Amino acid sequence: MTQLDALVQPIFDAVLQRNPGEVEFHQAAREVFESLGRVISKHPQYAEASILERICEPERQIIFRVPWVDDDGRVQINRGFRVEFNSALGPYKGGLRFHPSVYLGTIKFLGFEQVFKNALTGMPIGGGKGGSDFDPKGRSDAEVMRFCQSFMTELYRHIGEYTDVPAGDIGVGGREIGYLFGQYKRITNRYESAVLTGKGIGWGGSLVRTEATGYGATIFADEMLKTRGDSFDGKRVLVSGSGNVALYAIQKVQQLGGKVVGCSDSTGVVYDETGVDLELLRQVKEIDRGRLSDYAHYRGAASDYRPGGNIWSIAESTRVDVALPCATQNELDGADAAALVAGGVLAVAEGANMPSTPDAVRVFTEAGVLFGPGKAANAGGVATSALEMQQNASRDSWSFEHTEQRLEEIMRGIHERCAETADEYDEPGNYVLGANIAGFTRVADAMLAFGVI
Ligand code: NDP
Repeated sequence: MTQLDALVQPIFDAVLQRNPGEVEFHQAAREVFESLGRVISKHPQYAEASILERICEPERQIIFRVPWVDDDGRVQINRGFRVEFNSALGPYKGGLRFHPSVYLGTIKFLGFEQVFKNALTGMPIGGGKGGSDFDPKGRSDAEVMRFCQSFMTELYRHIGEYTDVPAGDIGVGGREIGYLFGQYKRITNRYESAVLTGKGIGWGGSLVRTEATGYGATIFADEMLKTRGDSFDGKRVLVSGSGNVALYAIQKVQQLGGKVVGCSDSTGVVYDETGVDLELLRQVKEIDRGRLSDYAHYRGAASDYRPGGNIWSIAESTRVDVALPCATQNELDGADAAALVAGGVLAVAEGANMPSTPDAVRVFTEAGVLFGPGKAANAGGVATSALEMQQNASRDSWSFEHTEQRLEEIMRGIHERCAETADEYDEPGNYVLGANIAGFTRVADAMLAFGVI
């Protein structure tokens, strides 16, 4: 673990003390603090105004009961969260996660990351995150609808197009956003399109939003490869997960000439030497709402399905050039990183939020692997959400080509901002440092301008 600068250590200690047991939040905060010592000593005005202390304390945290009735008529109770972290740059913006592992610490880590990520996009959006410990898996559409309606019956009073704009994340896709928007519209009697993003194309959604996070992470990896005169052409790639981000990362890798030889879900791994059959995978995951084991079943002998397997161990027996972790936090540890390095990995771009443990990041950095942290590499999703808000505000809808071009420009801009900031601090190629500092200074400067609020 890198030693923290003496200027920031006491502030970090206070974060630990104020937020006991929230280990993911501690991990996310520590990673940012490791980059900020030099910024604080170079710009004493940030310390004088206690910017770092303030940035670690969410502006508002909402926790609420979500009662609903299942298909058997039984009352179920879940817990809902919305953490409105920082609105220095615009309305709070960030997704909702529905997963049984969700607790306040998950939402705070995601909200904290979101503040810096959103700043990095250069767009006028603050940072927030929300969700519930509700598990949509195995629930009927009617149950998901009743849950979403109950969740929104509380959430609606806290959100709005100028206040807080939620979107999807793990467990929240187009179906859930539809039910949530419907209930918001009904309660408020307003067609306030820009109150949620990730909407259906026919009712205010943006083309490319579904693809944006996976496409963006792949474009970021491509930009990193270009700095070494390389590209995706002919590359062997592992993409963890098989949800929204993973599916479109696979698609973009294939468009750029790479071959995805493995993907996963929480119960297994597929090793597909001839390349993942994306059409089949999308049919199974997006249309049938099936499991990766179903994909393997239809694919037959062409794929090797490993129940309970670890996707990164594929690199122990075959060459892997690029890794795109697109499932969940802390899914890639130090040993996995060592396996990838031994397998020849050149670049890693995080489609998920904080998928690599601090040990893994150290292994990649020491081995000279190009490493794009989530808050830079997966910012394409939220950036396209901001484009969706722009379209809603002007009651317009843009073509796929135009929106994709905007996404590409934004991802290239984020890459450039990270690289230039890393150069400025004499650490060329350190995208972690570049992302943290570039994101922090944009938010910090706005906070300074507003005074102590
Ligand atoms: P989805 O719910 O669509 O897919 C998540 C995928 O990750 C599934 O394959 C799921 O497997 C797997 N997964 C989830 N939890 C675990 C776990 N505990 N262990 C192993 N595998 C797991 O979510 P998204 O694709 O939207 O999100 C993936 C990641 O990307 C998250 O970290 C999210 O925060 C991040 N992200 C998403 C954005 C977006 O626009 N959607 C934007 C920016 C970041 P299974 O189905 O078996 O649970």
